[in-house]
Amino acid sequence: MNFLIIGDIEKAGYLNSLSSLKLSDYTFIILTGDMSGSPEGWKIGKARGMEDRSFIPPGKNPKEYYQELLEPSVEKLKEVDENLGKLGIKVFAVYGNTDFKSIVARAKPKNFEIIHNKIVEVNGFYLVGYNGHPMYPWEMKEPLKKDIFGYTHEETSKELNSFREEDVYKDLKTLTENHPSNRVITVTHTPPYKILDKVKLELVKWAVKSYGETAEDGNVGSTGLRKFILEYKPLMSIFGHIHEAKGTDKIDDTHCINAGNFDKEKELVEITLLDSKLNIEFKKLNP
Ligand SMILES: [Zn+2]
Repeated sequence: MNFLIIGDIEKAGYLNSLSSLKLSDYTFIILTGDMSGSPEGWKIGKARGMEDRSFIPPGKNPKEYYQELLEPSVEKLKEVDENLGKLGIKVFAVYGNTDFKSIVARAKPKNFEIIHNKIVEVNGFYLVGYNGHPMYPWEMKEPLKKDIFGYTHEETSKELNSFREEDVYKDLKTLTENHPSNRVITVTHTPPYKILDKVKLELVKWAVKSYGETAEDGNVGSTGLRKFILEYKPLMSIFGHIHEAKGTDKIDDTHCINAGNFDKEKELVEITLLDSKLNIEFKKLNP
Protein backbone atom coordinates (compact mmCIF):
# COMPACT_ATOMS: atom_id res chain seq x y z
CA MET A 1 0.00 0.00 0.00
CA ASN A 2 0.99 3.63 -0.43
CA PHE A 3 0.40 6.42 2.02
CA LEU A 4 1.42 10.02 2.60
CA ILE A 5 2.81 11.77 5.65
CA ILE A 6 2.27 15.49 6.14
CA GLY A 7 4.30 17.28 8.81
CA ASP A 8 3.28 20.29 10.89
CA ILE A 9 0.93 22.31 8.66
CA GLU A 10 2.01 25.94 8.37
CA LYS A 11 -1.03 27.24 6.47
CA ALA A 12 -4.36 25.47 5.94
CA GLY A 13 -4.50 26.65 2.31
CA TYR A 14 -1.34 24.70 1.43
CA LEU A 15 -3.41 21.51 1.68
CA ASN A 16 -5.23 22.45 -1.52
CA SER A 17 -2.06 21.58 -3.46
CA LEU A 18 -2.75 17.91 -2.65
CA SER A 19 -5.25 17.96 -5.49
CA SER A 20 -2.23 17.77 -7.85
CA LEU A 21 -1.77 14.15 -6.70
CA LYS A 22 -3.82 11.15 -7.74
CA LEU A 23 -5.11 10.53 -4.22
CA SER A 24 -6.85 7.29 -5.17
CA ASP A 25 -3.32 5.77 -5.35
CA TYR A 26 -3.00 6.17 -1.58
CA THR A 27 -4.71 4.29 1.23
CA PHE A 28 -4.49 7.09 3.80
CA ILE A 29 -2.70 10.25 4.93
CA ILE A 30 -0.94 10.67 8.26
CA LEU A 31 -0.67 14.08 9.95
CA THR A 32 2.06 14.38 12.58
CA GLY A 33 0.33 17.18 14.54
CA ASP A 34 0.60 20.93 15.17
CA MET A 35 -2.21 21.48 12.69
CA SER A 36 -3.40 24.56 14.59
CA GLY A 37 -0.09 26.31 15.23
CA SER A 38 -0.25 30.10 14.73
CA PRO A 39 1.94 33.13 15.54
CA GLU A 40 -0.43 33.95 18.43
CA GLY A 41 0.11 30.47 19.86
CA TRP A 42 3.87 31.02 19.76
CA LYS A 43 3.48 34.36 21.55
CA ILE A 44 1.44 32.67 24.27
CA GLY A 45 4.10 29.99 24.72
CA LYS A 46 6.92 32.53 24.87
CA ALA A 47 5.17 34.84 27.36
CA ARG A 48 4.23 31.86 29.50
CA GLY A 49 7.78 30.46 29.47
CA MET A 50 9.33 33.85 30.30
CA GLU A 51 6.62 34.51 32.93
CA ASP A 52 6.07 37.87 31.24
CA ARG A 53 3.09 39.34 33.11
CA SER A 54 3.19 42.54 31.04
CA PHE A 55 1.93 40.37 28.14
CA ILE A 56 -1.60 40.67 29.54
CA PRO A 57 -3.07 44.14 28.91
CA PRO A 58 -4.07 46.00 32.09
CA GLY A 59 -7.68 45.41 33.11
CA LYS A 60 -8.00 42.21 31.03
CA ASN A 61 -9.10 38.97 32.60
CA PRO A 62 -6.08 36.69 31.91
CA LYS A 63 -8.09 33.56 31.12
CA GLU A 64 -10.49 35.46 28.84
CA TYR A 65 -7.52 37.07 27.10
CA TYR A 66 -5.96 33.64 26.64
CA GLN A 67 -9.11 32.33 24.94
CA GLU A 68 -9.30 35.47 22.78
CA LEU A 69 -5.73 34.92 21.56
CA LEU A 70 -6.62 31.38 20.51
CA GLU A 71 -9.21 32.58 17.98
CA PRO A 72 -6.83 32.50 14.93
CA SER A 73 -5.69 28.98 15.87
CA VAL A 74 -9.32 27.84 16.16
CA GLU A 75 -10.06 29.29 12.73
CA LYS A 76 -6.97 27.64 11.28
CA LEU A 77 -7.87 24.21 12.61
CA LYS A 78 -11.40 24.59 11.21
CA GLU A 79 -9.93 25.46 7.80
CA VAL A 80 -7.47 22.55 7.93
CA ASP A 81 -10.36 20.24 8.75
CA GLU A 82 -12.50 21.64 5.94
CA ASN A 83 -9.69 21.29 3.38
CA LEU A 84 -9.00 17.71 4.46
CA GLY A 85 -12.69 16.91 4.12
CA LYS A 86 -12.57 17.93 0.45
CA LEU A 87 -9.85 15.36 -0.35
CA GLY A 88 -12.02 12.29 0.08
CA ILE A 89 -9.27 10.15 1.65
CA LYS A 90 -8.93 8.66 5.13
CA VAL A 91 -6.74 10.81 7.40
CA PHE A 92 -5.12 9.61 10.65
CA ALA A 93 -3.52 12.15 12.97
CA VAL A 94 -1.98 12.90 16.33
CA TYR A 95 -2.08 16.26 18.07
CA GLY A 96 1.04 18.28 18.79
CA ASN A 97 1.96 20.75 21.49
CA THR A 98 0.33 23.65 19.60
CA ASP A 99 -3.00 21.82 19.24
CA PHE A 100 -4.21 23.04 22.62
CA LYS A 101 -7.19 21.18 24.09
CA SER A 102 -9.18 24.48 24.15
CA ILE A 103 -8.54 24.97 20.42
CA VAL A 104 -9.72 21.46 19.54
CA ALA A 105 -12.80 21.81 21.78
CA ARG A 106 -13.79 25.00 19.97
CA ALA A 107 -12.94 23.92 16.39
CA LYS A 108 -14.51 20.41 16.68
CA PRO A 109 -12.68 18.89 13.67
CA LYS A 110 -14.36 15.83 12.12
CA ASN A 111 -12.42 14.93 8.97
CA PHE A 112 -9.43 13.20 10.59
CA GLU A 113 -9.17 10.42 13.14
CA ILE A 114 -6.98 11.00 16.18
CA ILE A 115 -5.12 7.80 17.04
CA HIS A 116 -3.69 8.92 20.38
CA ASN A 117 -3.11 5.92 22.66
CA LYS A 118 -4.85 3.70 20.10
CA ILE A 119 -3.88 0.98 17.67
CA VAL A 120 -5.55 0.88 14.26
CA GLU A 121 -5.22 -1.90 11.70
CA VAL A 122 -4.93 -1.01 7.99
CA ASN A 123 -4.18 -3.69 5.39
CA GLY A 124 -2.35 -5.89 7.90
CA PHE A 125 -0.23 -3.05 9.34
CA TYR A 126 -0.83 -1.40 12.72
CA LEU A 127 -0.67 2.32 13.36
CA VAL A 128 -0.07 3.27 16.99
CA GLY A 129 -0.42 6.95 17.85
CA TYR A 130 0.66 9.24 20.67
CA ASN A 131 -0.08 12.97 21.01
CA GLY A 132 2.11 15.74 22.28
CA HIS A 133 5.61 16.28 23.58
CA PRO A 134 7.56 15.38 26.72
CA MET A 135 6.56 17.31 29.82
CA TYR A 136 9.09 19.90 30.99
CA PRO A 137 10.90 18.95 34.22
CA TRP A 138 9.86 22.28 35.83
CA GLU A 139 6.18 21.47 35.14
CA MET A 140 6.56 18.22 37.03
CA LYS A 141 8.49 19.84 39.87
CA GLU A 142 5.84 22.47 40.64
CA PRO A 143 2.54 21.10 39.28
CA LEU A 144 0.39 23.55 41.25
CA LYS A 145 2.34 26.71 40.43
CA LYS A 146 0.24 29.04 38.28
CA ASP A 147 1.33 30.53 34.96
CA ILE A 148 0.70 34.14 33.86
CA PHE A 149 -2.84 33.25 32.79
CA GLY A 150 -3.72 31.70 36.15
CA TYR A 151 -3.58 28.07 35.00
CA THR A 152 -1.55 25.59 37.06
CA HIS A 153 1.35 23.81 35.38
CA GLU A 154 -0.70 20.63 35.66
CA GLU A 155 -3.58 22.24 33.73
CA THR A 156 -1.23 23.72 31.13
CA SER A 157 0.59 20.48 30.46
CA LYS A 158 -2.78 18.79 29.81
CA GLU A 159 -3.76 21.68 27.54
CA LEU A 160 -0.53 21.19 25.52
CA ASN A 161 -0.81 17.38 25.33
CA SER A 162 2.40 16.95 27.36
CA PHE A 163 3.25 13.44 28.50
CA ARG A 164 5.50 11.80 31.06
CA GLU A 165 8.28 9.66 29.58
CA GLU A 166 7.28 6.65 31.66
CA ASP A 167 3.69 6.92 30.36
CA VAL A 168 4.51 7.02 26.65
CA TYR A 169 6.78 3.99 27.08
CA LYS A 170 4.25 2.01 29.12
CA ASP A 171 1.25 2.93 26.93
CA LEU A 172 3.00 2.02 23.65
CA LYS A 173 4.20 -1.24 25.17
CA THR A 174 0.72 -2.18 26.38
CA LEU A 175 -0.92 -1.29 23.06
CA THR A 176 1.50 -3.30 20.94
CA GLU A 177 2.24 -6.36 23.07
CA ASN A 178 0.12 -8.75 21.01
CA HIS A 179 1.13 -7.44 17.61
CA PRO A 180 4.02 -8.41 15.32
CA SER A 181 6.62 -5.63 15.65
CA ASN A 182 7.57 -5.75 11.96
CA ARG A 183 4.01 -4.66 11.14
CA VAL A 184 3.76 -1.85 13.70
CA ILE A 185 4.19 1.82 12.78
CA THR A 186 4.35 4.40 15.56
CA VAL A 187 2.88 7.82 14.79
CA THR A 188 3.87 10.54 17.23
CA HIS A 189 4.28 14.29 17.19
CA THR A 190 7.60 14.19 18.99
CA PRO A 191 10.71 12.42 17.68
CA PRO A 192 12.50 9.76 19.72
CA TYR A 193 15.41 11.22 21.71
CA LYS A 194 18.57 11.68 19.60
CA ILE A 195 16.85 10.74 16.33
CA LEU A 196 16.08 13.69 14.02
CA ASP A 197 15.26 15.72 17.15
CA LYS A 198 17.94 18.41 17.14
CA VAL A 199 16.77 22.03 17.29
CA LYS A 200 18.66 24.73 15.40
CA LEU A 201 21.64 26.33 17.13
CA GLU A 202 19.84 29.49 18.27
CA LEU A 203 17.26 27.36 20.11
CA VAL A 204 19.73 25.22 22.07
CA LYS A 205 19.68 27.70 24.98
CA TRP A 206 15.89 27.46 25.13
CA ALA A 207 16.09 23.65 24.89
CA VAL A 208 18.45 23.44 27.88
CA LYS A 209 16.33 25.91 29.87
CA SER A 210 13.23 23.81 29.13
CA TYR A 211 14.57 20.25 29.38
CA GLY A 212 17.84 20.52 31.29
CA GLU A 213 21.14 18.83 30.48
CA THR A 214 19.69 16.07 28.25
CA ALA A 215 19.16 18.86 25.70
CA GLU A 216 22.67 20.35 25.82
CA ASP A 217 23.34 19.23 22.23
CA GLY A 218 19.89 20.44 21.14
CA ASN A 219 18.17 17.03 21.30
CA VAL A 220 14.60 17.46 22.57
CA GLY A 221 13.03 14.12 21.57
CA SER A 222 11.34 11.66 23.90
CA THR A 223 13.47 9.22 25.90
CA GLY A 224 10.38 7.08 26.61
CA LEU A 225 9.64 6.73 22.88
CA ARG A 226 13.30 5.91 22.19
CA LYS A 227 13.29 3.23 24.88
CA PHE A 228 10.14 1.70 23.38
CA ILE A 229 11.63 1.68 19.85
CA LEU A 230 14.92 0.13 20.99
CA GLU A 231 13.15 -2.67 22.83
CA TYR A 232 10.20 -3.36 20.57
CA LYS A 233 11.76 -2.56 17.15
CA PRO A 234 8.67 -1.44 15.22
CA LEU A 235 8.85 -1.29 11.43
CA MET A 236 8.61 2.49 11.33
CA SER A 237 8.54 5.51 13.58
CA ILE A 238 6.83 8.56 12.07
CA PHE A 239 6.90 12.03 13.65
CA GLY A 240 7.34 15.79 13.08
CA HIS A 241 7.68 18.63 15.64
CA ILE A 242 11.34 19.61 14.97
CA HIS A 243 11.07 21.14 11.53
CA GLU A 244 14.80 21.73 11.06
CA ALA A 245 15.48 18.00 11.62
CA LYS A 246 13.34 16.80 8.69
CA GLY A 247 14.64 13.57 7.13
CA THR A 248 15.11 9.85 7.64
CA ASP A 249 17.28 7.78 9.95
CA LYS A 250 17.29 4.33 11.52
CA ILE A 251 17.39 2.92 15.04
CA ASP A 252 18.46 -0.69 14.51
CA ASP A 253 15.94 -1.93 11.94
CA THR A 254 13.31 0.75 12.63
CA HIS A 255 12.92 3.31 9.86
CA CYS A 256 12.51 6.76 11.41
CA ILE A 257 10.91 9.61 9.49
CA ASN A 258 10.69 13.23 10.56
CA ALA A 259 8.16 14.74 8.13
CA GLY A 260 9.16 18.25 9.25
CA ASN A 261 6.70 20.96 8.35
CA PHE A 262 4.37 21.47 5.44
CA ASP A 263 5.29 25.00 4.42
CA LYS A 264 5.28 26.93 1.16
CA GLU A 265 7.48 24.24 -0.43
CA LYS A 266 4.63 21.76 0.17
CA GLU A 267 6.96 18.89 0.80
CA LEU A 268 5.44 15.66 2.06
CA VAL A 269 6.58 12.06 2.39
CA GLU A 270 5.36 9.22 0.22
CA ILE A 271 5.64 5.70 1.61
CA THR A 272 5.35 2.57 -0.48
CA LEU A 273 4.92 -0.47 1.68
CA LEU A 274 4.72 -4.01 0.42
CA ASP A 275 5.40 -7.16 2.45
CA SER A 276 9.17 -7.01 2.19
CA LYS A 277 9.68 -3.70 0.45
CA LEU A 278 9.67 -0.23 1.93
CA ASN A 279 10.32 2.95 0.00
CA ILE A 280 10.43 6.41 1.56
CA GLU A 281 10.41 9.45 -0.67
CA PHE A 282 10.24 13.18 0.12
CA LYS A 283 8.19 14.90 -2.55
CA LYS A 284 7.47 18.56 -3.28
CA LEU A 285 4.03 19.32 -4.65
CA ASN A 286 3.21 21.83 -7.36
CA PRO A 287 1.71 25.11 -6.13
ZN1 LIG B 1 5.43 20.66 17.91
